[in-house]
Amino acid sequence: MKVVIIGGVAGGASAAARLRRMDENAEIVLIEKSAYISYANCGLPYYIGGVIHDRQKLFVQTPSSFRQRFQIDARISSEVIRIDRDRKSVLIKNLNSEETYEEHYDKLILSPGAEPIRPPLPGLQLPGVFTLRNVADTDAIKKFTEGKSNAKAVVIGAGFIGLEMAENLHHLGMHVSVVEMASQILAPVDFAIAVIAQQHLRHKGLDLYLNTSMTGIRQEDSHLFVDLKEKESLEADIVILSIGVRADTQLAQSSGLELGPTKAIKVNEYLQTSDPDIYALGDAIEFDHPILHKSMPTYLAGPANKQGRIVADNIIFGNQSKYKGAIGTAIVKLFDLTIATSGVASKHLKIAQVPHIVSTTHSASHATYYPGSHLMSIQLAVSQLDGRLLGAQAIGVQGVDKRIDVLATAVQRGASIEELTEFEHAYAPPYSSAKDPVNMAAFVAQNRLTGKSKAITWDELKLRPNESQLVDVRTRAEFEKGHIPQALHIPIDELRDRISELDPNKPVIVYCQVGLRGYLSERILRQRGFTDVINLAGGYYSWSFCDKELQIT
Ligand code: FAD
Repeated sequence: MKVVIIGGVAGGASAAARLRRMDENAEIVLIEKSAYISYANCGLPYYIGGVIHDRQKLFVQTPSSFRQRFQIDARISSEVIRIDRDRKSVLIKNLNSEETYEEHYDKLILSPGAEPIRPPLPGLQLPGVFTLRNVADTDAIKKFTEGKSNAKAVVIGAGFIGLEMAENLHHLGMHVSVVEMASQILAPVDFAIAVIAQQHLRHKGLDLYLNTSMTGIRQEDSHLFVDLKEKESLEADIVILSIGVRADTQLAQSSGLELGPTKAIKVNEYLQTSDPDIYALGDAIEFDHPILHKSMPTYLAGPANKQGRIVADNIIFGNQSKYKGAIGTAIVKLFDLTIATSGVASKHLKIAQVPHIVSTTHSASHATYYPGSHLMSIQLAVSQLDGRLLGAQAIGVQGVDKRIDVLATAVQRGASIEELTEFEHAYAPPYSSAKDPVNMAAFVAQNRLTGKSKAITWDELKLRPNESQLVDVRTRAEFEKGHIPQALHIPIDELRDRISELDPNKPVIVYCQVGLRGYLSERILRQRGFTDVINLAGGYYSWSFCDKELQIT
């Protein structure tokens, strides 16, 4: 069996290694157009920022180590320029010698990845304007940034890679501005969670230009100017264009393979393209989303690596391993914070018209009596049809990574919110609380789902007419530090004695700092004859972040 693999990084290299582990006799040829195979794309921003010092550490394998360990024929600086499906061969161009030659295959694997989107706007070819996809881009950016620690950087696009670049350029000492067309950073995350990160980025000295699109880049003397729609231009020494990627389908298209609705390569559950002898994986494919049931691409390293394993197994053993789709679990470090997401955010569920409730909780990352705990925010989206967890997001200083992995497992396994309340976790004070933040988030969602508590979100509160009685149940000191306009102040410990100040026939909205005392107050009022009582989700903490953000942007 001879297998040719196009693309030698995440998906391609992992398929190649698994092929060898499963079949000692297969002939495996890996064709990679860049000068490197199996490198750590995910580490590139950190190498540029000087966090990773040793460039060599980016390379997991080299052609010679691949040959020595796995007997894989890895050919770098070699581009597949044509697939001849009838002859079952690929035409390869040696990019050093310009020579072309044919290579036969029994099975072909396509893992060509995705390309950064470059819209047809003026100035994107100017020196100092970069996209970041591979080692060559990294070396070019690294060289350009040398000795420019006081430079001005503009990052266009506040997705995961754009923000990693923003942090790393800041780390080099640059003044960094981030331009984002949407009203928030990180599209997969809900606003109430994203704003916490936004305010942190500003606090660290970054300038955020939200609701702002770039119309082009100009050069005047030795300076770049990023032109913004209806706003003043931003002066820059370096511009990173990071507005997203799109599946690289050149070869698939020219060889007549079927594409899906998003114009990525269409594959079946065995990751087989419309040609049974050609498999495809990674950023170049689209697949049915397990929650939204829509064909979508996933631009993440984890799924690409896992797909590599599945494709290799299906080639060696026949189609047995099924790919089940990715739910989009992702995480990013933003200075002192970590923000992570899994499944589908509420805003996207709303667009897809999936009935759901949202719970927003802010819990300590570990027992507060043990030093060093920090507030962690978790937002869940839960199906109102069957109580299944559909999406989860978390942000905080500590422990976000482990919480999102627990939540991702729940989303992926189709766990109900009831099951999530039962999830057992390891607890000792330095790590968690007897009720872990994941359990707390689930308890609140369960109370909402079963009607034991009613909640209103910060944006619903803003839209609500003034006929409700809005009650702040926090302490006097908390109230005086800041409160929602028109709120009546009745601290929770005085609520029972001062209940006559409230009209039981009118709706009451209660709030505290994070939602817990609000919930206790809601329960007191409900059990004392108030029928329409609502607790502000996430309390004043969520409300003030969102309100402040609306005032800034
Ligand atoms: P790639 O790994 O991109 O490999 C495709 C390869 O195919 C390329 O090297 C390309 O040169 C080669 N190729 C294309 N066409 C041809 C051809 N015709 N002939 C020969 N070779 C060809 N994901 C995460 O989950 N977490 C992260 O933290 C993260 N950080 C990232 C940071 C950066 C800067 C980048 C660029 C990506 C990051 N990703 C991250 C995304 C992740 O790297 C990709 O999802 C993953 O690499 C996709 O694997 P792939 O095999 O489909 O494509």
